Amino acid sequence: MKMIKKMLVAGIAAAMMLTSLVGCGGGAAASKTITFGTNAEFPPFEYVTSGGTIGDYDGIDIAIAQKIGQDIGKEATINNMEFDSLLIALQNGQVDAVIAGMTVTDERKESVDFSVPYYTATQVMIVKEDSDIKTAADMADKKIVVIQGYTGETVVQDMGYSYESFKKGTEAVLELVNGKCDVVVIDSATASKYVKDNEGIKIVEDPSAFEAEEYAIAVKKGNTELLNQINTSIQKMLDDGTISELSAKYLDAE
Ligand code: GLN
Repeated sequence: MKMIKKMLVAGIAAAMMLTSLVGCGGGAAASKTITFGTNAEFPPFEYVTSGGTIGDYDGIDIAIAQKIGQDIGKEATINNMEFDSLLIALQNGQVDAVIAGMTVTDERKESVDFSVPYYTATQVMIVKEDSDIKTAADMADKKIVVIQGYTGETVVQDMGYSYESFKKGTEAVLELVNGKCDVVVIDSATASKYVKDNEGIKIVEDPSAFEAEEYAIAVKKGNTELLNQINTSIQKMLDDGTISELSAKYLDAE
């Protein structure tokens, strides 16, 4: 009888230990990793490389993701997928957060929650060096290319122009370089990177037609615990200059 009692006590103690171990995090929060969804086709924010900041990925966002991981005591991992799938992956719980140079829009806010913004960009036009396009209105009778699902697509759509959409920025720029289209509408920093990497193309800005866009990290709607942690981390990086340093570093990188 005594023996049984002892075993019972030991059993309960073991069960309690187990519960307290699991209780440490509780469900998803118990995980030692934080998975960021991205679309690594958006230099200088995220791109595939050999041996990047996290695995084979590098860029401003990847470096930010790594620092957020450090700040919240978890290892950051990257799940690279199509841009259009990112918010669905977040809702499905396939990723914990999305960091993808993603512009905060009212439409996206309906399905996910956004962190404090960490970068301000705008849409710009990439054209051939000898192009006569000087304003957004000049695109009216031109062959326009955008990237599928990017805010650039919505902007051109709202202007009422017809366009062709590609899955990757590199494909769109190649189309322009090869003379198969007249203009690519895409985010400013990414455009700078493409113009730097390709001969014979330039950027045309039109601030009266393209509004400022703010990039932020998305989390599943209602995940305030993670959102607060991310916000604290981003705010710290904005205040201590980390984000401006990272932007300068990756914008200047070859
Ligand atoms: N900022 C644009 C958007 O949110 C493009 C982002 C991206 O391609 N990574 O749609």
